[in-house]
Amino acid sequence: MSVQDQVTLKKVYEAAKRIKPYIAVTPLWHSPSLGGNVYLKMENLHEIGAFKIRGAANKMLSLTTADQQKGVTTFSTGNHGLAVASLAGELNIRAVICISNRVPDVKVNRLKRLGAEVVKVGESQNEAEKHADELRRRDGLTVIPPFDDQDVIAGQGTIGLELIEAMPDIETVVIPVSGGGLFSGISFVLKKYNPAIRVIGVSMEKSAVMYESIQAGKIMTIPESDTYADSLLGGIGENNRYTFQMVQDYIDDFILLTEEDIASGMAFMLNEHQCAVEGAAAITVGTILRNKIDPGNSKAACIISGRNVDTSVILKVCKQ
Ligand SMILES: *Cc1c(COP(=O)(O)O)cnc(C)c1O
Repeated sequence: MSVQDQVTLKKVYEAAKRIKPYIAVTPLWHSPSLGGNVYLKMENLHEIGAFKIRGAANKMLSLTTADQQKGVTTFSTGNHGLAVASLAGELNIRAVICISNRVPDVKVNRLKRLGAEVVKVGESQNEAEKHADELRRRDGLTVIPPFDDQDVIAGQGTIGLELIEAMPDIETVVIPVSGGGLFSGISFVLKKYNPAIRVIGVSMEKSAVMYESIQAGKIMTIPESDTYADSLLGGIGENNRYTFQMVQDYIDDFILLTEEDIASGMAFMLNEHQCAVEGAAAITVGTILRNKIDPGNSKAACIISGRNVDTSVILKVCKQ
């Protein structure tokens, strides 16, 4: 790959500067019940409720004015769509969000309130992706990819910059993995800073596409199934260019959790930190609660990636 085609530290620093006016400064919360030095990076506290605003903002703000004017489109299980819709609203440009029928209503309604056009197609993210590409050819909209794009990865990488700034001696970071943009961005920065930092990826046992693809050594497609971590559903793209390789290169340990493990993480976040978070976010604390990793006294951070969850789901896991 040529330099133009790679994520670089320079691109991550530029991203941080570019997106600053559009994102929240998210805190690191100490979580002593998880371990003496375990901290939570509260990416659920962005206005849209998830870190995806970082990558989407970096990509959209990098477009030419002419391309911004034509509008943008994306395919997404929800949070990336929210990010694109919200920024399009702020920049006053057209956004068409293509989603699968599996996306929960709470997310669809919010997209519409943000002013985006929503198109529901098929049962999986792949079908939504095809439709977005059709809009690109037909109407000249720019597709804002949810993860496999160097501007998006650089945007998510700004979390890595914030982590080392706040905890220069950080030793372990636990990151949820779906398409791998979040994992790639954060790991890229951390490993450049100090290759000894351990980066641990976590997905749900059901439909762990990145995990299965790494095991198989090639890109796999797996049918989607219902999970508390619905934001981690979706394929990694048949023509994946960046994240499949980056996750393979950087990951020190890849952990899969059951639905009960994920639910315990959600209940913990509510009981211990009074935060309703989604399964895709609580999955990181689930790894510690269910003894899949033991942070001991090491300096560790769990990425709490988002909070967009139906109230009914929160009530259910808290009754268990
Ligand atoms: C998208 C998302 C993830 C996973 O990010 P990838 O870059 O697709 O791996 C994790 N948590 C939440 C809340 C998300 O919206």
